Amino acid sequence: MNTKELDSKYIAGTYARFPIVLKEGRGSVVWDTEGKEYIDMGSGIAVNAFGIADHEWINAVTAQLGKLQHSSNLYYTEPGALLAEQLCTRTGMKKAFFGNSGAEANECAIKCARKYAADKYGADKRYKIVTLVNSFHGRTITTLAATGQDEYHKDFQPLTPGFLYAPANDCGALKAIVESDEAIAAIMFELVQGEGGVLPLEQDFVDCIAEICKARDILMVVDEVQTGNGRTGTLYAWQRYGITPDIMTTAKGLGGGLPIGVCLMGEKCENTMTPGSHGSTFGGNPAICAGALNVLSRIDDALLADVRAKSDYIVKELTGAPGVESVAGLGLMLGIKTAKPLSDVVTACRENGVLVLTAHGKLRLLPALNIPMELVKKAVAVIKSCCAE
Ligand SMILES: *Cc1c(COP(=O)(O)O)cnc(C)c1O
Repeated sequence: MNTKELDSKYIAGTYARFPIVLKEGRGSVVWDTEGKEYIDMGSGIAVNAFGIADHEWINAVTAQLGKLQHSSNLYYTEPGALLAEQLCTRTGMKKAFFGNSGAEANECAIKCARKYAADKYGADKRYKIVTLVNSFHGRTITTLAATGQDEYHKDFQPLTPGFLYAPANDCGALKAIVESDEAIAAIMFELVQGEGGVLPLEQDFVDCIAEICKARDILMVVDEVQTGNGRTGTLYAWQRYGITPDIMTTAKGLGGGLPIGVCLMGEKCENTMTPGSHGSTFGGNPAICAGALNVLSRIDDALLADVRAKSDYIVKELTGAPGVESVAGLGLMLGIKTAKPLSDVVTACRENGVLVLTAHGKLRLLPALNIPMELVKKAVAVIKSCCAE
């Protein structure tokens, strides 16, 4: 049997895959098993921050693999400690918890928010978490409950109780929810809703959340699983909105292609999590942390300026182009509404050598942060022609 046949026979049918088998790549170019070449405008859903088979990152990971690939959290290891230091100094957050995915990072954030409220206000007094309609926070039963999209919920009831959903960019509606409920511990949101269709929150709405949180000692939890690690043109998206989260999570791009999720806790909940509160066997894996340290060290002002410049180019080229109805997003996290059926555009792009993603009815671009400008230009030309035809 070939790969496609083996996959459909033996792998659980949770994914609708595109009909190509990817074999290898270099940077933002990838080849399938038939030798066809593609420009990668998805980077494994914002994961391969510096593209495929990046030498610096490989060296960082393999050097650590040759020393100690895993230790368990019973012992201290250097890479995790250094990574936590970098994350905290570059964000002003106080403590890091390491897990292996975005969902796990968010589970930690939810547990931490509930424990903060339980410690301060008494058990069961404040446990509810407000999230936004069209949000996406993960696939575990609890992070699914946090995800404000009914279509993900329907076959898995009952989900973890205690989640309320507010429409994005509607301060009045959020205030009404918060004012009618004494038991709210946290408001959790993405600054650019990724899976929800690449929708950036408006500054006024974000200011409204911050004000509500401050007035009521409600924790502000920002999910930067997708928006984080340079993706939107700042290290974390909240840094461009002028807010400071009490808890933030990130994952996807941080590991450069290997699984890591982090929950960062600020001043308020610096000491909330204590021995026994939480844990993860693989969390803080030294080889992955060594790779993440390399990724983080390269997300500097010059790279971020470059991300913003490439974003400006893509937005300018596509806005108002024939067959393009709208372009939204921040940095290299962009969503494009097409006049033609989306799947036709995606297929045409692939056939013309450009791999793109979708999100909630939009074409979504999440290229590697260091994608060369000439590849951006080529890809945009293909996308433009596929939207127009
Ligand atoms: C992808 C994503 C998650 C889930 O991350 P996993 O690593 O798949 O568990 C959570 N939140 C946001 C905003 C995401 O984009």
